[in-house]
Amino acid sequence: MRTPSLLSMAVLFASTAGAQSPAAQGRLSVHWEELTAADFREAITRAQGTCLLPFGIMEKHGPHLPLGNDLLNVRYAALHAAEQEYAVVFPEYYFGQIFEAKHEPGTVAYSRGLQLQLLQETTDEMARNGCKKVIIVNGHGGNNSLLPYFAQTLLEAPHDYVVYVQGLARSGPGEPKHRSDPATDMHAGESETSMSMVARPDLVHLERAAQESGADQARVKLPAGLYTGIWWYARFPNHYAGEGAVASRELGEFEAKTWIDAIVQAIRAVKVDQESLRLQNEFYERSKHPLGTPR
Ligand SMILES: [Zn+2]
Repeated sequence: MRTPSLLSMAVLFASTAGAQSPAAQGRLSVHWEELTAADFREAITRAQGTCLLPFGIMEKHGPHLPLGNDLLNVRYAALHAAEQEYAVVFPEYYFGQIFEAKHEPGTVAYSRGLQLQLLQETTDEMARNGCKKVIIVNGHGGNNSLLPYFAQTLLEAPHDYVVYVQGLARSGPGEPKHRSDPATDMHAGESETSMSMVARPDLVHLERAAQESGADQARVKLPAGLYTGIWWYARFPNHYAGEGAVASRELGEFEAKTWIDAIVQAIRAVKVDQESLRLQNEFYERSKHPLGTPR
């Protein structure tokens, strides 16, 4: 039998102390729902009031990816980023804009008013609990209009917190060469499937990816700049855009790293940003009496 080394004694001591107080040991979870109330207080301090709201969706993702694909991927990226640069991560949230997939099984499409009301009450509740800087990390392309619109509407009335929106950021310089046309690689195609192969490889059924077509059917022809809501269905009625079958783990690893790095940079930038809240407060004050605004 070996006598315990100094190192193993130290490890034993550390793990005993850790069992008493995770916070004291510097091992605070980044998951909101895993913290005790007392540890939550410390977590908000350590995060400098910066919290992430990873925003997914529940919708069909081609014939080969799970309904919760965007939720699973955005949480993978957000949680890894928060481990690198501490922030508190809000639990599963998938109450966004997805009317265009209502004809497909498993889609959960909350009404327009509820999407905004639930998001407002969620960020209000986060802020009431000390998250004075909320970064909504978007994982779903169908939210690309909703989220900046929501952020704009926060100027309607005073709020004591700032909302930032981090968009999808999976591609960048040095990216491995794609095997399919990037112009139509938009939903459950090569790029997104590759990311899923890293986040949840057990849920990717690559052998089913060619069972349906993700080709652009281009059934409505309108000039650029003229928008209509049925555009997506007109182009991709299978709610599948691109070629998932050519996805690769190599591309997925690049995408995951690029996305995580972008979120880490966002957290760091938000932590040092003191101007947004100061200017918001100035704006709210001036908007009460616009005739008094200096010329
Ligand atoms: Zn998706």
